[in-house]
Amino acid sequence: MSQYWSPLVQQLEPYVPGEQPKDQRYIKLNTNECPYPPSPKVLAAIQQELADTLRLYPDPNADLFKDAIAAYYGLESKQVFVGNGSDEVLAHVFHALFKPDQPLLFPDISYSFYPVYANLYRLSVKQIPLATDFSLDLTAYTPANGGIIFPNPNAPTGSALELAAIEQLLQLNSSSVVVVDEAYVDFGAATAIPLIHQYPNLLVVQTLSKSRSLAGLRAGFAVGHPALIEALERVKNSFNSYPLDRLAIVGAAAAMQDQAYFAEICQKIIKTRTRVVTQLQALGFQVLPSAANFVFARPPLGNAEAIYLALKAQGVLVRHFNKPRIQAYLRITIGTEAEMDVLLAKLSALVAV
Ligand code: PMP
Repeated sequence: MSQYWSPLVQQLEPYVPGEQPKDQRYIKLNTNECPYPPSPKVLAAIQQELADTLRLYPDPNADLFKDAIAAYYGLESKQVFVGNGSDEVLAHVFHALFKPDQPLLFPDISYSFYPVYANLYRLSVKQIPLATDFSLDLTAYTPANGGIIFPNPNAPTGSALELAAIEQLLQLNSSSVVVVDEAYVDFGAATAIPLIHQYPNLLVVQTLSKSRSLAGLRAGFAVGHPALIEALERVKNSFNSYPLDRLAIVGAAAAMQDQAYFAEICQKIIKTRTRVVTQLQALGFQVLPSAANFVFARPPLGNAEAIYLALKAQGVLVRHFNKPRIQAYLRITIGTEAEMDVLLAKLSALVAV
């Protein structure tokens, strides 16, 4: 029946999300969720909202959430855009800010949604290979492009850039929009947000799915010069003027406000990551330096797919990418201490075989 499809859909290869099992049988270390619950203040805010009414439309501008982000980062709310998860924010970014007449630049080995959005919005693309140590070589991102996007820390590698390198890139590319996708920034990298005051071509995207334990709520945001935000608002209002429901708005705002809980969760994950890296290395894994809530690690024999399958059969899900250059690696989300104990015990048995 695909003769009814538009030509655009005929050539579209949608993003394939990580496995989301419907049962509770798995220790889930495959999609970089936070193993800890959201702040109790988030739950209280949602309960309060539920006790009020879902009968009415939400605030289309989600001002409560925007104001909480603005207060957290010392910005004005006109510098803030919010959406239903950062995936939706990114979709609007691709639509609103990247130019189709020159190639969009992003790393080869990065977030696999980027090529999908580029295809959906008919943008031409030039993927820039990572350096041999899997770091991003920003000097290869030369001008005459339709825009630049990269995650910092990168996914699935976890490696982070210094702000000085990002600043240099911004200076070299002042005529195109540079988007830094900071989904994992809170686990040890420096945010580029302070640079938005100086660089009107910089947009920084973040999510509440990882460090604020709200993957299920779907809340993300972008910050940048008001002119960039205005473009995003125009596109958003042409799609769905109510992307965030009432519960998401109050819950996300409360999460931004509870700074103490947020700091505690990030510290816990960083501490567990440090231990896991040491233990994986002791098992002979080669582990890339990570500033994220996951590690990217090569088992001693490079038999990552076999290990992924064996772990899955034993109830532990990690991520394996069947892609050139990285098929010998596993991406492992940092879970609770107890979850990591189970994983490490199983890995120890598997690499000993
Ligand atoms: N950017 C990167 C680099 C990611 O890995 C993810 C999570 N898959 C996202 C954005 C999207 O996260 P969310 O839509 O949950 O905010």
